[in-house]
Amino acid sequence: MPTSNRDTGRPSPIAVSAIGLRKSYGDKTVLDGIDLRIPAGSVFALLGPNGAGKTTAVKILSTLIAADGGQAQVAGHDLAADPQAVRAAIGVTGQFSAVDGLITGEENMLLMADLHHLSRAEGRRVAAALLERFDLVEAAKKPAATYSGGMKRRLDIAMTLVGSPRIIFLDEPTTGLDPRSRHNMWQIIRELVSDGVTVFLTTQYLEEADELADRIAVLNDGRIAAEGSAEELKRLVPGGHVRLRFSDPAAHHRATRALPEATRDDETLALRLPSDGSQRDLRTILDRLDTAGIEADELTVHTPDLDDVFFALTASTVPGRSSRPDQPKENAR
Ligand code: ADP
Repeated sequence: MPTSNRDTGRPSPIAVSAIGLRKSYGDKTVLDGIDLRIPAGSVFALLGPNGAGKTTAVKILSTLIAADGGQAQVAGHDLAADPQAVRAAIGVTGQFSAVDGLITGEENMLLMADLHHLSRAEGRRVAAALLERFDLVEAAKKPAATYSGGMKRRLDIAMTLVGSPRIIFLDEPTTGLDPRSRHNMWQIIRELVSDGVTVFLTTQYLEEADELADRIAVLNDGRIAAEGSAEELKRLVPGGHVRLRFSDPAAHHRATRALPEATRDDETLALRLPSDGSQRDLRTILDRLDTAGIEADELTVHTPDLDDVFFALTASTVPGRSSRPDQPKENAR
């Protein structure tokens, strides 16, 4: 995903940096020393299962709550020393939207314009432009309570943009949206980034992080378990394998003996072999089966994806990885 800085080849200024952020509630440690370094103009995804501490991180970085320890700069301002300057530079849309359902979309926008001390004329101009941009012109005069989930999120982001923030925190922007609204939201996020805005996104969806983020940090047990581009993270896990499936238990049994390094799953009559998925590797496996006179009913090649990374890193908090619909019950991961 291009950033203006990449185009000029200059190193990007840092939009968000944090060292050792900590937060506990009672004796529960939610963030146990988080370090962040997010270049301006990029999309950063904080990925983690429910309850991992994503919202807590957003609340701290957007000055809604104070950290117990560590330090952070947002838009060049120290969080603790100058929270006012941080607030002026950022926009936040949370899971609990700022939209007031009792008034219309347009009135919500104008209220925001007032909060940002825009003149009446300027407020109307900005509100109209944003309602147009987010495809809310038709609905603008209707109470926001009548909007669909996707429309409310769009209005929420439009309201956030009234103040022209350079950094936007989007806390689970697509949770609960249908696929079409989710894709619309992704498009909106891409457009924000092409305008040079830095996006700090939290998500439970691997696909979303993969689609949007320049860098992804996986939050688990209060720590960042891994960080990098989607490609870098995928390289962390040796998830590549070939899966052979048999309908005949005897063939499955013979294949197990012919391929002793394979992990077997007796329930689904499958075998799983580590593999890079290359032609040479596949030929070797097939040759060995041929030599033993065995024919598999099905052969599938699996290359590692972000799911593998996520499940490998968050295994302790996600019971029963094998319950994933695309995963056979296997024990070697
Ligand atoms: P996520 O956004 O990743 O789902 P949260 O940051 O909302 O996670 O929550 C992380 C953990 O902190 C959860 O166990 C949650 O119950 C706890 N938590 C969050 N806010 C509070 C609070 N105000 N008081 C006590 N516990 C809290």
